[in-house]
Amino acid sequence: MKVMKFGGTSVGSPSRMKEVTNLVVSYNEPVFVVLSAMSGTTNSLVEISDYLYKKNPEGANEVINKLENKYMAHINELYETKEWQDRIRSFLKEEFNFIRTFTKELFTSFEEKVIVAQGEIISTNMVANYMKEKGFNVKLISALDFMRTDKNGEPDLAYIKKNLSIILEKECDGQVYITQGFICRNAYDEIDNLQRGGSDYTASLIGAAICADEIQIWTDIDGMHNNDPRIVEGTEPVHQLHFEEAAELAYFGAKILHPTCIQPAKYAGIPVRLLNTMAPEAEGTTISNMTEYGKIKAVAAKDNITAIKVKSSRMLLATGFLRKVFEIFESYQTPIDMVCTSEVGVSMSIDNSSHLTEIVDELKKYGTVTVDTNMCIICVVGDLDWSNVGFETIAAEAMKNIPVRMISYGGSNYNISFLIREEDKKRALQSLSKTLFGK
Ligand code: ASP
Ligand code: MG
Repeated sequence: MKVMKFGGTSVGSPSRMKEVTNLVVSYNEPVFVVLSAMSGTTNSLVEISDYLYKKNPEGANEVINKLENKYMAHINELYETKEWQDRIRSFLKEEFNFIRTFTKELFTSFEEKVIVAQGEIISTNMVANYMKEKGFNVKLISALDFMRTDKNGEPDLAYIKKNLSIILEKECDGQVYITQGFICRNAYDEIDNLQRGGSDYTASLIGAAICADEIQIWTDIDGMHNNDPRIVEGTEPVHQLHFEEAAELAYFGAKILHPTCIQPAKYAGIPVRLLNTMAPEAEGTTISNMTEYGKIKAVAAKDNITAIKVKSSRMLLATGFLRKVFEIFESYQTPIDMVCTSEVGVSMSIDNSSHLTEIVDELKKYGTVTVDTNMCIICVVGDLDWSNVGFETIAAEAMKNIPVRMISYGGSNYNISFLIREEDKKRALQSLSKTLFGK
């Protein structure tokens, strides 16, 4: 079975929902469909929660009414018969009245999670019922019945596998199975979610749980591009990526895929395909365990990076110096991205600078500290195994006119990263495209 995930814009209007239906039923075999909330909905639900935290039910009601009107306006466009229109109208009424009940209650993060879950519950109901009206054999499966996280907040794959297979055995005659992305239950059986953008993760987890032949992530661009199309002209989709290449690109700013999504599919060895609802025949990007030898695939950049250098003669031949330095970052829950060392100093980059002052203050115990803000990591991804010759040089050649603060190579077989000033980013990305891809 294939898993097909459609994001918020792909189900963002009645006409888009109809297009999704056409794509889904074009397969001659059962498919498992994962849907996000209609675009903008999760943001509105977060806004409603925000008003409720601030004890402003009036503000919340205003957003609820606006959202309800928006949904109600879709009914006649999506459903043909009065019977189905009435049915969905009362479903939506019930949904929004349910959301309204929270304006009268004590409001905590539990209630917020319940409210935020309604976006996917509504979108899946609307699409499943549209398909039913059209006569397709659709099974709407609640993600809350099988998607679960454990006590550490990590997906409980064994639980998901077991419960999903029980459900699928019971509902074995379906043509289309539809479920909600993003939402789940936690180890205490409360309604929870897989973090913003988590529908990709849902799709990947389901793919791994049912051993799907592939996981399709449908958006409205034609796959991952070899550079940032907002900055560089003539970028092209990359047709084939290794899971690790895709993970680097997803982390370094290629917004098309949520970084967490890669892991379950990678472990289960299931290819992930990024496809475009606006051009369904386009090849898109296939992410798998296959390496294309000797090929540089893509470039991505991440802004808002801070570089911190600690210089100390005490580091010379000392053991435990780096541990002490890293522990300071750990105690402020600040992940380190890049690290470069010399005998008398270490430079690190972080993208969360909310505890920068405290971190710098503590680092001063160990050496002289210098901070560079407004930096940017440029990440070149491809088959950069150290035994291949020449690729580091080509990437570095493209950066020859740009001041480079740090270089990181050898951390994985798939990337080389440069830390530069944000103001040089455009020039760097353009030069890399020209040198690496001839554009
Ligand atoms: N609806 C959720 C969000 O907007 C999850 C998703 O779309 O992936 O973050
Ligand atoms: Mg998304």
